[in-house]
Amino acid sequence: MPTPNIKLPNMDHYWVPFTANRQFKAMPRLFKAAKGNYFTTMDDRQILDGTAGLWCVPAGHGREEIAAAVGNQLRTLDYAPAFQTSHPLAFEAAERVAQYMPAGLDRIFFTNSGSESVETALKIALAYHRVCGNPLRNKLIGRERGYHGVNFGGIAVGGIAGNRKAFGNALAGVDHIRHPLDIVNNAFTKGVPEDGGIALANEFEQRIMTLHDPATIASLIVEPMQGSAGVIVPPKNYLKRLREICTKHGILLIFDEVITGFGRLGTRFGADYFDVIPDIITCAKGLTNGVVPMGAVAVKREIYDAFMENSAANAIELPHGYTYSAIPIACAAAIATLDIFANEKLEDRGASLSGRLESAAHSLKGLPMVKDIRNIGLVAGIEFEAIAGKPGAMSFATYLKCYEMGVHVRYTGDIIAVSPPLTIEPHEIDRIFSTIADAIKFVVAAGDAGLDHTRYLKNEQDWAM
Ligand code: PLP
Repeated sequence: MPTPNIKLPNMDHYWVPFTANRQFKAMPRLFKAAKGNYFTTMDDRQILDGTAGLWCVPAGHGREEIAAAVGNQLRTLDYAPAFQTSHPLAFEAAERVAQYMPAGLDRIFFTNSGSESVETALKIALAYHRVCGNPLRNKLIGRERGYHGVNFGGIAVGGIAGNRKAFGNALAGVDHIRHPLDIVNNAFTKGVPEDGGIALANEFEQRIMTLHDPATIASLIVEPMQGSAGVIVPPKNYLKRLREICTKHGILLIFDEVITGFGRLGTRFGADYFDVIPDIITCAKGLTNGVVPMGAVAVKREIYDAFMENSAANAIELPHGYTYSAIPIACAAAIATLDIFANEKLEDRGASLSGRLESAAHSLKGLPMVKDIRNIGLVAGIEFEAIAGKPGAMSFATYLKCYEMGVHVRYTGDIIAVSPPLTIEPHEIDRIFSTIADAIKFVVAAGDAGLDHTRYLKNEQDWAM
């Protein structure tokens, strides 16, 4: 399958992230170019991008507008110190991001990634309660199966044990609530599940009342749709009820929209899709269409004002920031990306294609090993039956076979996730799922031999808390 008759780079030095390095280096999958909805491999094969890169290329690859904006900026102002000085584009980018956010979330802190956005949001939540005179509000709540990046705060509030166990203990003072899949698993639900949302959200209140004093909770962080841990779509009214509970107890609600932001659900943000306004939104990825690392944290104006009003006029209100916060090329890329969204109405395009993706995804129901199919907006997850002793092997084998057949999908645990660029064509959506179907049939027919791959998960419990 890999790259015959081509000169590969020296593979010794690069430590590939979240990847089985020895296995990957034995059969590398290397892209040398990308345009539109396709990658080009080193041996000149075209691979349909069924995942928008790592969920981060909503406007499709090789956008000239972004390349021009970044190139021009690089030649004009390559860098301005991010602390104590700045540059006009940082303010313009913040204004544009603020305008793109749900109403009220119009104070913007720039970071360089989703993980940094999460750390920043958690730190803002903790510091906010302190500046408001409530230092005992210092506990952070996340969700089982939540993915909030890889930094220490993120793995602490995150609920994928496999990402944390390798490093020993993370932060103290963190708790987790259940994820919605517990109540709707194996249901082949199309879109948003109808039932159970209120009861599940009420468990959050019950937990903080019985195990904690609600007055000690700083924030609750949730992904509106849990992406990385398997496309988990929340039931109706669940997020609304979480909002009510947070408001009642003075807890900041953080939506981690690193995946759900920028049109993925057919709306600008998951907050728009579910009509729930959190106190803080984290985003990254699609903000620059994946071309320059950049993240953003949007907070309600009251939160920003609390910092301004409760510290001395010459004080640094938030001792936090990055050398590359709002670097000029990232700001240029973000503005160009937001222009593309505005001009091409990519969110509407995503919404209009979601029905096609839903039918294509659910056409896989009944195939061997397929345990559940979930979808929302331009995302679908196909979950396989767990195979004892071989966690993740079925999805990994399916992913490899799809790649061989010219379609890039993502595997995560026992799940194949599909999240194409919003520029995808209807026939390309059909191709993604017919390829997955063929790959499943192939892998199942190959039996044990087809599953004989090094696996991402060491054991089943890595998905559990
Ligand atoms: N938060 C969520 C919800 C994510 O899905 C991701 C990445 O997929 C992150 C945070 C981390 O983003 P990054 O990889 O840019 O650090």
